[in-house]
Amino acid sequence: MTKDKAYEPFEVDQRMVAHSNYWAGEMGSRFYITLRDKKKILGVRCTKCNKTFWPPRTTCVFCFSKLDELVEIGPYGTLETFTLVTYSEPVHPRKAPFVYGIVKLDGADTGMAHFIDEVDFNKVHIGMRVKPVFAKEKKGNILDIQYFKPI
Ligand SMILES: [Zn+2]
Repeated sequence: MTKDKAYEPFEVDQRMVAHSNYWAGEMGSRFYITLRDKKKILGVRCTKCNKTFWPPRTTCVFCFSKLDELVEIGPYGTLETFTLVTYSEPVHPRKAPFVYGIVKLDGADTGMAHFIDEVDFNKVHIGMRVKPVFAKEKKGNILDIQYFKPI
């Protein structure tokens, strides 16, 4: 007869990489296709709240209305906040060090995280005006905007 042995909880520290494809959704698909094919950035408007969201979403976060009024925004924007990333992770699309910031495009009421480049970190500041640099080879993802740089 064997006696059940009690084990202490055992944690394994590891990283998993899972390459996958997923449907970006109707709104996401329109956003990425327009970005890839026309180098235009779309937001979506809630006419009830008078807010424009970037990236576009299907539901207003304030009034829960279904959204479908896409509008062109940017391409210029304002840096809302930023940080210097000093370590590399496999999930980062580039090696550290790099600056990551929240960019609120002209015409949008929300910001989105993206790379800030072509500027000395000591000169990056909140309120800095930026514009996108588009990737030469478009793949239909957010990195079709390679990064934002100061105007
Ligand atoms: Zn709304």
